Amino acid sequence: MHVSFVGAGPGDPELITVKGQRLLGEADVIIYAGSLVNPALLSLAKQGASIYNSASMTLDEVIEVMEKAVARGEKTVRLHTGDPSIYGAIQEQMDALDTKKITYEVIPGVSSFLATAAALKREYTLPDVSQTVIITRMEGRTPVPEKEKLASLASHNATMCIFLSVHMIDNVMKELMDGGYKEDTPVAIVQKASWPDQKIVRGTVSTIGQIITDAKIDRTAMIVVGRCLDSHYALSRLYAPEFGHMYRDAK
Ligand code: SAH
Repeated sequence: MHVSFVGAGPGDPELITVKGQRLLGEADVIIYAGSLVNPALLSLAKQGASIYNSASMTLDEVIEVMEKAVARGEKTVRLHTGDPSIYGAIQEQMDALDTKKITYEVIPGVSSFLATAAALKREYTLPDVSQTVIITRMEGRTPVPEKEKLASLASHNATMCIFLSVHMIDNVMKELMDGGYKEDTPVAIVQKASWPDQKIVRGTVSTIGQIITDAKIDRTAMIVVGRCLDSHYALSRLYAPEFGHMYRDAK
């Protein structure tokens, strides 16, 4: 028996994958990230499943629960918010399972930066605007390598999706401006994307700090920065009539 790491998606219980949903329904043991996973997903669990909230557990305790479950031949799901590969602290769990020769699989999920684009109804990669999305965070208790400081990433003027940083909004915007974003660069903040109480606020790198302080948004929010939030861009080549490709001839 092995462990299935499952991306729960951003909040809306219908945004878990079909495979993730099936595994959750079959699991004997579920360990979920209680701080952000929507508890509504736990209603998919079968009767009698043992459910653990990892918010109050250490890494060793999580691994111990997995190890015992596997030894008993029980199906185990480790449920992570969004996609586990993004700020999921999944690597240390996989490495610990490797050491113990316990096998596992990873089922991806819809990351919150993607649910945020859906909420905003915007495309991050607009032709002539930006073809690059930078996923990053402001330094907190977890350090960020020197070359990845927000100010140096900002110099690219790409679309940026900034996780885990809304409580430090003034510092974030200062670094972005120091790094080269103009003061009028649009910013959107989506709190709890895809949840029933989702909130969207908009401003610019120079105004958003005050706006979200007034809106009292200080957690579980994505900061999106970039001209992709404006509406000026070139049409895509993919659907241009004079541009043929593998599946369609040029007109
Ligand atoms: N693995 C997760 C991210 C975990 S880090 C993912 O792929 O989405 C937690 C951070 O993710 C939060 O601080 C916030 O910045 C962001 N986040 C998670 N869920 C969110 C949601 N529904 N809406 C907006 N941001 C969210």
